[in-house]
Amino acid sequence: MGIAENVIEIQREMDQTSLKCKRNPEMVTLIGVTKNITADKASQAVRAGILDLGENRVQELQNKHPLIQGVRWHFIGHLQSNKVKYIIDKVHLIHSLDRWSLALEIDRRAREINRVVPVLIQVNVANEATKFGLEVQETYDFVTEVSGLKGISVQGLMTIAPFVEDPEEVRPVFKQLKDLSGHLKNIPGVQMEQLSMGMTNDYRVAIEEGSTMVRIGTAIFGYRDY
Ligand SMILES: *Cc1c(COP(=O)(O)O)cnc(C)c1O
Repeated sequence: MGIAENVIEIQREMDQTSLKCKRNPEMVTLIGVTKNITADKASQAVRAGILDLGENRVQELQNKHPLIQGVRWHFIGHLQSNKVKYIIDKVHLIHSLDRWSLALEIDRRAREINRVVPVLIQVNVANEATKFGLEVQETYDFVTEVSGLKGISVQGLMTIAPFVEDPEEVRPVFKQLKDLSGHLKNIPGVQMEQLSMGMTNDYRVAIEEGSTMVRIGTAIFGYRDY
């Protein structure tokens, strides 16, 4: 199948999943993950109706940004503080805020250009040694501190679930992120409206558990060659 067909098929699956669990399909955004994918292929997905693209490398976002118009860019990967300046004016949402030094740099660069940059806090719910993100127990104090920064607006949480054969196995991870967002939403000055969770393998389960943004690469573009 081609990219356009894949996009339409996934959108249909997402809508069905939402309706099945009595959620409004419009409350779940499909983010096309274009890492290692050419701008030409990314544009095909955009022509098929995708309005949001996600990148996990600064360089790739910088390269594709001028080539693809009319989309919202999401930064979803590990972000080095010294590269914040390259994307600060281009991103709609940073999904991967996971440490104080990065928060300070985003805040500083955002205020320089008079922006308030929306971010999600990345949480390593499953506590995997190989993954970035705060531990669940650290999030309350962290979000409280970040809420005092004028250049940042906290919009919600993001997690990457462990890769498993059967997505049912990671349902508790998604449940835990949702519970956590309920616990954090009373912190003054923060929004907890967004839950970025779900990828090719597990997006249906993530939607059932309350995801508002799914980040999908493989199911749209096929397997990436690295
Ligand atoms: C690559 C990536 C995705 C997309 O993964 P697929 O399994 O290809 O859908 C989603 N989120 C992040 C953070 C990624 O790096």
